[in-house]
Amino acid sequence: MNAFQKLGLDADLLKAIKDMGFETPSEVQEKSIPILLEQETDLVALAQTGTGKTAAFGFPLIQKIDSNSRKTQALILSPTRELCLQITNEIKNYSKYKSMNAVAVYGGASITDQARQIERGAQIIVATPGRMQDMIRRRLADISGIQYCILDEADEMLNMGFYEDIKTILSHTPKEKKTWLFSATMPKEVAKIAKKFMTDPVEITVGSKNMGTDNVSHEYYLVNTRNRYDGLKRLADANPDIFSVIFCRTKRDTQKVAEKLIEDGYNAAAIHGDLSQNQRDLVMKSFRSRQIQMLVATDVAARGIDVDDITHVINYQLPDEIETYTHRSGRTGRAGKNGVSMVIVSKSEVRKIRTIEKMIQQSFIQKEIPDGMEICKT
Ligand code: ADP
Ligand code: MG
Repeated sequence: MNAFQKLGLDADLLKAIKDMGFETPSEVQEKSIPILLEQETDLVALAQTGTGKTAAFGFPLIQKIDSNSRKTQALILSPTRELCLQITNEIKNYSKYKSMNAVAVYGGASITDQARQIERGAQIIVATPGRMQDMIRRRLADISGIQYCILDEADEMLNMGFYEDIKTILSHTPKEKKTWLFSATMPKEVAKIAKKFMTDPVEITVGSKNMGTDNVSHEYYLVNTRNRYDGLKRLADANPDIFSVIFCRTKRDTQKVAEKLIEDGYNAAAIHGDLSQNQRDLVMKSFRSRQIQMLVATDVAARGIDVDDITHVINYQLPDEIETYTHRSGRTGRAGKNGVSMVIVSKSEVRKIRTIEKMIQQSFIQKEIPDGMEICKT
């Protein structure tokens, strides 16, 4: 009996899991799946990014859905459009041996198209809170009969100010439904949601073992502020096989850095909120297929993005909120692979590194920009 079978998953799911090449369940999967399969209960699961939370709720959800009924039975809320699409694709993958349909509902794309897809029968809706609320208001989706509501990346959703939207959406769902909340961290706001909208949830916490950020090493490079961009180029030059996400603080800087990299002959592109959804989808597609080696991104645009085998995360600028650092570095070192998270800092920012070290309980290695004494002097 394989380890997924032991968790109680059915033959159709096991076949799909085999196709995906998953061999053993991650810790959060091991802990959540049997509970969700066997009990009708609310659940709060805390596990770092990259630990396989999507399958932890996706597998049991698919097994519990009645594929003979076309009615919408589950709603998954997720913070960003990209994540919404990613989860929908994963759900489709997991359920490929079942007759089941999942529809992605997110802003920036045609609402009538999405409504039409739902009308054709969608047992699962995966939505961003803003667009979902729109859909409900315009009576384009009916979630009054759902049995399961999943709040994915709950900390991110609340960070992005979706509390009121979530509240409104939940008020259109039946009281008897079960709510499963998944989050990387448990700030006060998440605890508040759990308390207000959930009943005696089973609580699961997973350590940083497994596919977490333990496989990520953290490095910082000291440069003079005006040499930040040159530092970035040299880091890229020293790692010719680099496949990385580069984080900037603002949309403007993101665009600027990407433009400069392209001008200098690198395989780069920008992703941020000023691009149309179409453009963003296109950029993500080229990045996934590795036509782009360096994706320059804002935090919002890159949130939760799961692209295989990212070798380096580069903090071109540190984030304003140090908690964001974990989300950035979590883009690499996924699914048991190793990764490097690099930070380019000026002298005055080194104390921020010390704060981050305390938060992640890991030390940074200070490194020199390759061949760059002259630009490192501060
Ligand atoms: P999280 O939501 O916790 O950040 P994801 O659900 O996005 O994590 O999963 C991270 C990556 O790990 C994905 O690429 C996923 O396909 C992979 N993954 C998930 N579960 C397993 C498993 N049991 N074995 C191998 N890879 C897995
Ligand atoms: Mg996730």
